[in-house]
Amino acid sequence: MTGLFFTFDGIDGVGKSTQMELFCEWLRDNGHDVVQCRDPGGTPLGEALREIILHEQEMPLCPTSEMLLYMASRAQLVAEVIGPAITAGKTVVSDRFLVSNVAYQGHAGGVEVSDVWSVGAIATNGVRPDLTLMLDMRVEQAATRLNRDLDRIESRGTEFLNRVRDGFLLEAAKAPERIAVIDATRDIESIQADIRTLAGRVIDVKGSTRA
Ligand code: ADP
Repeated sequence: MTGLFFTFDGIDGVGKSTQMELFCEWLRDNGHDVVQCRDPGGTPLGEALREIILHEQEMPLCPTSEMLLYMASRAQLVAEVIGPAITAGKTVVSDRFLVSNVAYQGHAGGVEVSDVWSVGAIATNGVRPDLTLMLDMRVEQAATRLNRDLDRIESRGTEFLNRVRDGFLLEAAKAPERIAVIDATRDIESIQADIRTLAGRVIDVKGSTRA
């Protein structure tokens, strides 16, 4: 029995958490046994690393060590949470996953993009999302939605975040069947409707191959 794996991605402020909550509610209403997680995080090691990566801003981290800390967190998340849940036939939904590293540390941070994918394949043990829901909007517009103190990554400025966004869009263009770009400038309900349609197709296909 294999479960399903969905991830939400995109720059901060685009509405990932908002949409993920509504999506998980819908999945549960439709009989899915849902496991929600966030990357980095989701395990004791992952939460400790998340604190270092995002909040200990006085601790210098070069792009490569930053990428590797994310990968260590993800490896533990896959081993402890995501892998077992998928094996048990559950539906896993993660706030961010590997493509975030590809965009932030790779495309925007200068780490070789193919290296990020390669290390990622080791960290995830080959576990890949069935579908990544990539919420997209202009960096300036997303920033207006964040009315809190910025973490290490968020505080890197517009130019950096534009490279991140372009990196996300490039990766989506390379793998449109795995990464769906969703216009996140619209109202919450319209965005959620698109997400349910896109995910519904994946659920139907997997369901029919399982039957
Ligand atoms: P992320 O998890 O991507 O950082 P959030 O879901 O936390 O984004 O949303 C950031 C802020 O924007 C929140 O205050 C949220 O209520 C608001 N928000 C989310 N989606 C929309 C939307 N479609 N239109 C307007 N505001 C939104």
